[in-house]
Amino acid sequence: MVYSDWRHSTLLRCVLCGGCAEPRFGLCSGCARDLPRLDSACATCAIPLPPVPAGPTRQCPACQSRPPAMAASRCAWLYGFPVSPLIQRFKYEGDLGAGHALASLAAESLAGMAESLDLLVPMPLHWRRFWQRGFNQAQLLAETFSRAWQLPTLPRTLRKCRASDRQQSLQRRQRLRNLSGSFLVRGDVAGQRIGLVDDVITTGATMETAANALLAAGASRVVALALARTP
Ligand SMILES: [Zn+2]
Ligand SMILES: [Zn+2]
Repeated sequence: MVYSDWRHSTLLRCVLCGGCAEPRFGLCSGCARDLPRLDSACATCAIPLPPVPAGPTRQCPACQSRPPAMAASRCAWLYGFPVSPLIQRFKYEGDLGAGHALASLAAESLAGMAESLDLLVPMPLHWRRFWQRGFNQAQLLAETFSRAWQLPTLPRTLRKCRASDRQQSLQRRQRLRNLSGSFLVRGDVAGQRIGLVDDVITTGATMETAANALLAAGASRVVALALARTP
């Protein structure tokens, strides 16, 4: 039900300012320009780095000393105003227009990743959370990327088998411990180059645990893709 609503949720008015100057994907050009693009970031974990003149791909010190499971991470924006309230409207208030606007714009700005991927896998929600919310935001995002990039999405490949509550108050190390063993892989991912899709990368711990599960199941490469990265 919600998936067809999603496809037709592009609005005629800008989801941010309410203006109707022919919004593209539901955002007027002024508001789209104001979104905080993540132009300078670690290539591996997407943590924001200070801007430098164009140079080679950069890695943050943490990724240099301990490379994470993901081969790369890309986010379209910083998790800051006005991206953060749009994502919250999408996730917690079921505002599909806000989510669809961000998904469509992110599909454009992350399109360069598509050619090095075989398929997309959305980050799963625990069934209890899914039942409460009525949709998995990562699956809706993956469907938009999938359509834009002509790549298959396998929505039930990863299964979350434990609800990991209170993640937001935990440190990264605790989060990894809390998450370990919380994903099951179903289906054949052997040799596949996978784009793992979520709405926000916070510490990267959830992405990393899911990426480890996919690699352990035989995936050849996992790349993290998200709308936004927290600083
Ligand atoms: Zn606007
Ligand atoms: Zn990094």
